[in-house]
Amino acid sequence: MMNSTFQPAWPQLSDLKTANGNELTARTVYCVGRNFAEHASEMNSPIPKEPLIFTKPIGSLVVGAEATVQLPTQSNEVHHEVEWVVALDRGGKNIPKNEAWDYVAGWGVGIDLTARDLQSAAKKAGEPWAVSKGFDGFGPVSHFTPKPASFFPKHLEDYELKLTVNGQIRQRDKLSSMLFTLPELVRYLSTLFTLRPGDILFTGTPAGVSQVKAGDHCRAVLMSNTGELESHLDVKITVDK
Ligand code: MG
Repeated sequence: MMNSTFQPAWPQLSDLKTANGNELTARTVYCVGRNFAEHASEMNSPIPKEPLIFTKPIGSLVVGAEATVQLPTQSNEVHHEVEWVVALDRGGKNIPKNEAWDYVAGWGVGIDLTARDLQSAAKKAGEPWAVSKGFDGFGPVSHFTPKPASFFPKHLEDYELKLTVNGQIRQRDKLSSMLFTLPELVRYLSTLFTLRPGDILFTGTPAGVSQVKAGDHCRAVLMSNTGELESHLDVKITVDK
């Protein structure tokens, strides 16, 4: 267990740069719930009329191709949720939808780990999800791929998210299945909050979420529309002994 004198660093988004060439430091981690209809339905939850937004504490974010996540003793049921994760390099309020891509620095693939038992209890009690979503390491993300100078947002819709656990496919869907597109999410978020360079957005998970256990190996990938591996992340699940 970490002792109280441990000085944690802020996660750096070292693959991405600000407009003036500086490294980006990760700031607020925003997440979107129920952004794929089939996932809302597997959770017996209605499809939201507006994006369902929550946040994760910064200590949940780990950036890199590999991560080890320790299961918290407070939960007996931690689930994987593979997600497309976007980083911003500009900030602002009330960002118009048609300008939203200008705020995007790049993207990767991540896992929104969720203590489902704690989340279900919180939902029933009308309490916040913060604890169930926020344990240390509960938001591992691959290295970020910078947004190409010339790119076509339409192509991204054919990108595919995939998650395997110990080699078996558990989740797979296209980004085009997202209920709210990235520009819609950026626009909506920025009507609520002033966004900042380094803000991170987990954009929601497809159907197929399930429990992970100690010893499991999760592999999350984002494939481009030409079948190339755009981003990948390997996560080992452990317990504190
Ligand atoms: Mg999620």
